[in-house]
Amino acid sequence: MSSAPWSLHLLSEVLAAFTVESPTALRDVVSRVGEAVDAEVMAILTADDFVLCSGLTRQEKPALLAMAASGASELQLDGGQLHLFWAPLNDRERLVVGRYREAFSLEERALLRGMGRCIQLSTQVLAAVKAEQEALKAEQIAKEEAIREATCDHLTGLPNRRLLLAHLATRLAAPLAADRHTAVLFIDLDRFKQINDLYGHPAGDEVLRQVGQRLSSLVRGSDLVGRISGDEFVVVAEVREQADALTLAGRILEQLQLPLEVQGRALPSSGSIGIAIAEAGDDPETLMANADLAMYSVKQQGSGRFACFDASLREQLQERARIEEELRSGLAASEIRAWFQPILSAVHGTVIGFEALARWHHPQRGLLAPAAFIAIAEETGLLRELDAAVLQDACQQIGGWGDTFDGLLPRLSVNISATSLADPLLSLRVREALTSSAFPGDQLFLEITETTLVEDVASAFTNIAELKTLGIRLAIDDFGTGYSSLRYLRRFPVGILKIDRSFVDGLGHDQEDEVIVETVIRMARSLGVEVVAEGVETLNQEEILRRLGCHYLQGFLYGRPADGPTSAALYATSLAGMLGVGLPTS
Ligand code: C2E
Ligand code: MG
Ligand code: MG
Repeated sequence: MSSAPWSLHLLSEVLAAFTVESPTALRDVVSRVGEAVDAEVMAILTADDFVLCSGLTRQEKPALLAMAASGASELQLDGGQLHLFWAPLNDRERLVVGRYREAFSLEERALLRGMGRCIQLSTQVLAAVKAEQEALKAEQIAKEEAIREATCDHLTGLPNRRLLLAHLATRLAAPLAADRHTAVLFIDLDRFKQINDLYGHPAGDEVLRQVGQRLSSLVRGSDLVGRISGDEFVVVAEVREQADALTLAGRILEQLQLPLEVQGRALPSSGSIGIAIAEAGDDPETLMANADLAMYSVKQQGSGRFACFDASLREQLQERARIEEELRSGLAASEIRAWFQPILSAVHGTVIGFEALARWHHPQRGLLAPAAFIAIAEETGLLRELDAAVLQDACQQIGGWGDTFDGLLPRLSVNISATSLADPLLSLRVREALTSSAFPGDQLFLEITETTLVEDVASAFTNIAELKTLGIRLAIDDFGTGYSSLRYLRRFPVGILKIDRSFVDGLGHDQEDEVIVETVIRMARSLGVEVVAEGVETLNQEEILRRLGCHYLQGFLYGRPADGPTSAALYATSLAGMLGVGLPTS
């Protein structure tokens, strides 16, 4: 047998077989080794088992396994005397080659040892290559995961703020065709917090996932949808002109307004969108911030719509931010004071009370009426503080009149916003205001608008019950302009209905207004509730209101809101029975 040529050939084959990853590679190589020496039995075994074996019956195998430890060179089997050759493959496995015919020659043994060593090396190399490949693969997966982690939003799988900004930067840097622009649509879901509060966070998460899917299905493949935080999504799209961006925003709003199917419920959904179109030199952050500002402006005007950014918007918002800051410091510096407008008895013409109205003594802009700051106070969460400040100041000022008027204090009406009514601290604040001013609770009315009462009835209930124990009554302000709230008239300690100025306006020339006013007065009387007519400006209106049985009158005809000292003087005049308002005095 000429061993040298085929052994080299076999060696290269062995190595080649092991460089590819195949479950049969080892078996093939081993059988080729067996063929080379005309072996009848070929096996690889560990101390207690076979890795592979050919040429032995199931009954014969244990006998060979028993020899593994000793490495004996012969084994007596039913088929005859089996000559064995053992070669270690690694520290666990051994190769065994068997032949019945004759023992292996020295040359064959050398060859087999060489091949065993060859297999051993090859398996080692293969194992190392495999380990290396696995390590590389794991590293690659970890890298991809880290990138995903850093650039994707877990919940929706959409790109996050970082990736969106990077994407925007690439887009802005690349030259676009003259008729192409990059648009950013900033989308904020309306009332998302309520969904979380009412149905729990899993439902909120599901809403976000579904919204993400809806948005993704609406845009072109080249556009990008991402979630940048909470309920805020961003779409980066390429458009020809602004109108395209508006059309896309319209389509998104339409889709968002379809109810979402979450946990077996159809949840209402809607969103607000701000749009910014890139201009030369814009950077990603500015573009995103501009779209955000446009979205914010939509929210301020009632949500559920879209708007485009323009420079005046930034000025408006900066102006608002300035007012907010000034309001905060103004509240701290007691620049917001209570002024008072008189309320008169329709029968006697005397001043029976005052409504406290907030006035801001602005250090630069002078005296400001509520229209200039109430809405901003509400948006910025300062309204509770403002209400509390006016309440405290009003009680303090009018409570201070006690000595002057021999304890004959007028009634006091103070406006309370929806958020104050739901404020758990309200009754405590009212109690403090009464205690510190010595103003009697049964002379105090809190004015709330009809809509307030309807919307916040549940959270307001506890407050109202506590206020009742202090003798405080409610006045329903601007009655007739909101939803019908007759139900609450019975449920809560409502002492006064204030007919809105818009109805009083029509008295004398609008038949319908007269019917409404008459009906309200009749109904209130039957419920034992008093009626104040707001915005009385003419003697004719006064005359009709008196005829219809209205209890009290308030309006410019009798006095505009004025500061404390002016109001005290008016009250003094009234008490002295000298008020010249054309009403009969008793
Ligand atoms: P309101 O509570 O309905 O107050 C009556 C408003 O009508 C006052 O406006 C008053 O000046 C005005 N008014 C009274 N008589 C006449 C009249 O004959 N003709 C006309 N054209 N107007 C008349 P003001 O002071 O500007 O207050 C506006 C609103 O701001 C108030 O309406 C009230 O809703 C709110 N407000 C005022 N102060 C406070 C406050 O301390 N807290 C809260 N939450 N809201 C307040
Ligand atoms: Mg009022
Ligand atoms: Mg009113």
